[in-house]
Amino acid sequence: MATNQPRVPGRHFLQIPGPAPVPDRILRAMDKAVLDHRGPEFQKLGLRVLSGIKTIFKTKSHVFLFPASGTGAWEAALVNVFSPGDKILMFETGHFATLWKTMATKLGLNPEFIESDWRSATDPVAIEARLKADKNHEIKAVCVVHNETSTGVTSNIADIRKAIDAARHPALFLVDTVSGLASADFRMDEWGVDVTVAGSQKGLMLPPGIGLTGVSEKAMKASKESKTVKSFFSWEDMVGPNKQGFFPYTPATNLLWGLAEAVDMLHEEGLERVFARHIRHGEATRRAVRGWGLEILCKDPKAYSPVLTAILMPQGHDADEFRKIALEHFDISLGAGLSKIAGKVFRIGHLGDTNDLTILGALSGVEMTLGIMGVPHKKGGVQAAIDYLGSTAKAPLQSATE
Ligand code: PLP
Repeated sequence: MATNQPRVPGRHFLQIPGPAPVPDRILRAMDKAVLDHRGPEFQKLGLRVLSGIKTIFKTKSHVFLFPASGTGAWEAALVNVFSPGDKILMFETGHFATLWKTMATKLGLNPEFIESDWRSATDPVAIEARLKADKNHEIKAVCVVHNETSTGVTSNIADIRKAIDAARHPALFLVDTVSGLASADFRMDEWGVDVTVAGSQKGLMLPPGIGLTGVSEKAMKASKESKTVKSFFSWEDMVGPNKQGFFPYTPATNLLWGLAEAVDMLHEEGLERVFARHIRHGEATRRAVRGWGLEILCKDPKAYSPVLTAILMPQGHDADEFRKIALEHFDISLGAGLSKIAGKVFRIGHLGDTNDLTILGALSGVEMTLGIMGVPHKKGGVQAAIDYLGSTAKAPLQSATE
C-alpha cells in the first residue's frame, strides 16, 4: 500500500558498530522453512555450527549458544561461574564495561571497578598491581571488554593474560568480545581466556538473536561449584544435548543456518584477511577524521579499534543532531554516543561485511553532513581515505594467494 512517505532508493547505510549489515548470502541461507529442532536434519546443522563456531573462537572447549543477545551471554557467564558475594575485578573502558559491572552487582556479586576515562584501554599494569595486592586470592576473576563498542578502544587481551600470570594469581579470565569476535584478532585458548562472551550481530554478520559463551575446562569446573541460581542460562544443561547436536530448548533455528554460512564465509576469506581488512578500514576512517581536523575519542593509537571509530563533535555542536541530519539526507545510520558521552560523540562502524567502497560511501556521507550542519572542519577527509585505500588496494585474487 502506498504511504505518504517518499521511497528512499538504494540500500540503507547501516554504519553503526553492530548490528552490522547482513550479507545476502547469509539472508539466503536463513530463508528456509523452519525445521523440527529435534529432527535429523536439525541435528546435522547443530553439530555443524557447534563445531564450526569453535574455529572462530579459536578454542577446543565448549561454545554454548543461547537464543539471546550479548547481554544474555554476559549473564550466562556471570551466573554459571560465580556465587553470590564473589569478588571480581573489572575495568571501566566505557559504557559496556559499566553495564556489565552493573549487572554483576544486580546478580549479587561484588565487583571492584578500576576507573578510567572512557578513552583508554584496560591497563594490564593496574590489573597486575591489584592482583599482586590480593594476597589471599579473594578476587575470583578478571572481567574485561575486548573491544569497547562505546568508545572505539580495543584492549590487549594477551597482555592482560600476561599480567594475571605475572601476579601468579589463580583468577579466572572473562572477556567480552561481543563486538570483537570475527573482526579483531581473538584467540581464546592461546590467550588463556576462561569465558568468552559474544553476540551474533557484529563480526559474525548475522541479525541479533544468538548470545555465545566460550567456556574453558577451568570455567566449567568453577560452574559446578557456583551457587548462583540459574536455569535458562545453565551451561550444564547444554552439555548433554549439544553432544548430539541438540539444545535443551528451542534454539534460534533459522539464525543457526545463517551462523553455519557465516563460519564458512569467514574461512573462505581467511580469518587473517578478515582482521587485516578491518584494520585497513579503521585506518582509512581515522585518516578521514584527521583530514577533517576532528578528534578521535581513543587516545592511544595502539588501542585504535578495527571495528569502529568514535569521533568527538566540536564544542557547540550536538552529535545526535548530526546523526539525525545524516540519516535524513543520506540514509546513513551512525552510532550514537552512549550514556555519559551522549551528544558528544558519534561512531562510525567499519565492521562485518564491508569493502572499500562501502567505507568511502559512509565517509562521504559524514563529510557532506559536516558541510550541511556548518560544523567547522577541513575538506579532504574523504580524499585522505581514498588516497590510503587506493594506494593499498589489492585485487582479491592477488591477496588470496599471499
Ligand atoms: N558488550 C559489548 C561490547 C557490546 O557492544 C554490546 C552491544 O552492543 C553488548 C555487550 C550487549 O549486547 P546486546 O546489545 O546484544 O545485548
